Amino acid sequence: MPHPFQKIKRTIKTLQRKSLKAVGFSSRFRRTNRAGKIVRIIKSTRRAPRPITTSQKQITLSGQEIEYILRLNPRSKSIRLAIHASGEFIVTAPPRATQIMIESLIKLKANWILEKINHFKTVVKIPRKSKAEQKAEYARLRNDALKIATEKVAYWNTFYNFKYKNISIKNQKTRWGSCSRNGNLNFNYKIALLSDKLADYLVVHEICHLGEFNHSAKFWTLVAKTIPDYAIVRRELKGVK
Ligand SMILES: [Zn+2]
Repeated sequence: MPHPFQKIKRTIKTLQRKSLKAVGFSSRFRRTNRAGKIVRIIKSTRRAPRPITTSQKQITLSGQEIEYILRLNPRSKSIRLAIHASGEFIVTAPPRATQIMIESLIKLKANWILEKINHFKTVVKIPRKSKAEQKAEYARLRNDALKIATEKVAYWNTFYNFKYKNISIKNQKTRWGSCSRNGNLNFNYKIALLSDKLADYLVVHEICHLGEFNHSAKFWTLVAKTIPDYAIVRRELKGVK
């Protein structure tokens, strides 16, 4: 004896199949030509993705006016709060979420939100120099930089005695210096802004590449001959932006 529920289930299935047959598949799964003849039966239909809508909102938390971006995303399953390092506060929610639901969640998390927003506000932002400002700085410092680099290379190379060709100053974003295979030494113009200790390390580093064209143990042994605490200085230089 089948379980009564099983029987009902089976009846529904049979009915569905029969009714589908009767209509020759529902119109959703059927493509017909102008004459009404079925040209294609679509096994599944995928709905076009619904768009994400964004809007600017405001809420008062502990007397502080807070702005946020509400992003209604059909794909999201729950309300999510995110505060970016830029200070931007973004709320993502499914479209069915009501404004009351969203606001009550924000209020529930008010302490966390305010803490985050105020934290990012107090983080010291290093002002990025514009391209024009950087060009001007390079023009202003390059002669000083060349003088410093030339003097320091001459001084430290009295110890190493490697052969080198030209010393040039570059306006590079990420590199402090480089040494080419044919013996040219390049330094970032910001060498002029470094402390003596850091500039010395930078120069010694590039000089040692004239002897060891890599960062092997042999290379660091060479560096250590004149700067025994190079590891500390190196870390310090890495922190300079
Ligand atoms: Zn190197």
